[in-house]
Amino acid sequence: MSKVIVIRYSELYLKGKNRNFFEKLLIDNIKSSLNGIDCKLKFNRSRYEVYDFSDESEIVERLKKVFGIHSISIATKCDYEIENIIAAVSDIRLSGTFKVDTNRADKTYPLISTEVSARAGAEILKNNPGLKVDVHRPMNVINIDIREDGCAYIFKDRIACAGGMPVGSSGKGLLLLSGGLDSPVAGYMMAKRGMRLDAIHFHSYPYTSEKAKQKVIDLAKILVDYTGPITLHCIPFTKIQEEIHKNCASNYMITIVRRFMMRIAERVAALSGCGCLVNGESLGQVASQTLESITVTNDMVKSMPIFRPCIGMDKQEIVDISVKIKTYDTSILPYEDCCTVFLPDSPVTKPTIRRAEREEKRMGDFESLIAEAIGNQEIIHIEKV
Ligand code: ATP
Ligand code: MG
Repeated sequence: MSKVIVIRYSELYLKGKNRNFFEKLLIDNIKSSLNGIDCKLKFNRSRYEVYDFSDESEIVERLKKVFGIHSISIATKCDYEIENIIAAVSDIRLSGTFKVDTNRADKTYPLISTEVSARAGAEILKNNPGLKVDVHRPMNVINIDIREDGCAYIFKDRIACAGGMPVGSSGKGLLLLSGGLDSPVAGYMMAKRGMRLDAIHFHSYPYTSEKAKQKVIDLAKILVDYTGPITLHCIPFTKIQEEIHKNCASNYMITIVRRFMMRIAERVAALSGCGCLVNGESLGQVASQTLESITVTNDMVKSMPIFRPCIGMDKQEIVDISVKIKTYDTSILPYEDCCTVFLPDSPVTKPTIRRAEREEKRMGDFESLIAEAIGNQEIIHIEKV
């Protein structure tokens, strides 16, 4: 008899030819998530099993962050003869009501499911005075899984995990990562669909501080638990912002800042093998996220899609996810973002592409500014600790 952690993945996307590819990715991601923990991992008929460990709590916490895992259970594993199953359930302690649910994958097993449940249930009742059977609405369910390989698994809870698809199954995107609440959540949502991420951050030193940049690095460090390693491109944006401030109408400042971010992000994405951009925009949240503003910034990017997974979310929904994924406390630290530098009193809420282009013309040759910013980027590789 031994203690194991059973890992179940969602079968939905595993149909057909891609099955091996997905399974291999998932097992690689599980292995790297358990890095540094003393345990073993085995693959067995559409399930993974962790065994030979001493403390399950850290393993459970890490597995909960691996996309592609549907649920896990901490189980007792034994040879499937009924005497062993009875012995395995004999130290279960419960109160209130319960039922036993048996699932018999091996149809040649000498007892039918209801007989196994009845015998195990009788043993549990014997050891738990006051406990009652309730097959309709039990407070506790003890599951017994009888497998074809001669083993039985006995477990109580199915611990819900992150779901989604294994990271690496949906290409790579470049996340525009500010220090705010929305963009880390946007990155999490794309990783959940299997996307690997790099990140790009624009900073305007000395208008923004070292602490503001560190905050973004800290956010990326939290994200890597879900996304795997992230290469963070830190782009010096001061000169471009100063030129915009000097030459362009102040109510167009934010619109044009955003257009430059998009221009640079698209080029960095192409250079680093990313097939899309990802940002944290949410429709109507602020002046730069009206339909008209998004149209004018979107216009910059021609060669790849821009994904905005937060576009239809309320702020509270975004906050709830950021609390769940533990980026919230870092995101709310009060360090200035480059978008707050030279902030106009009344940014335009209905900008037009033509007017934005006219304003940008006043900056003269800005191509060299873009090339210089990309050339002077700092690249930081962020790995799981
Ligand atoms: P967030 O909470 O993600 O900062 P926000 O509500 O502050 O979002 P904006 O400041 O309008 O919204 O930014 C919209 C999106 O533009 C952000 O979600 C992010 O993807 C991108 N962005 C903004 N500032 C930066 C920056 N300094 N570096 C990289 N991306 C940025
Ligand atoms: Mg912001």
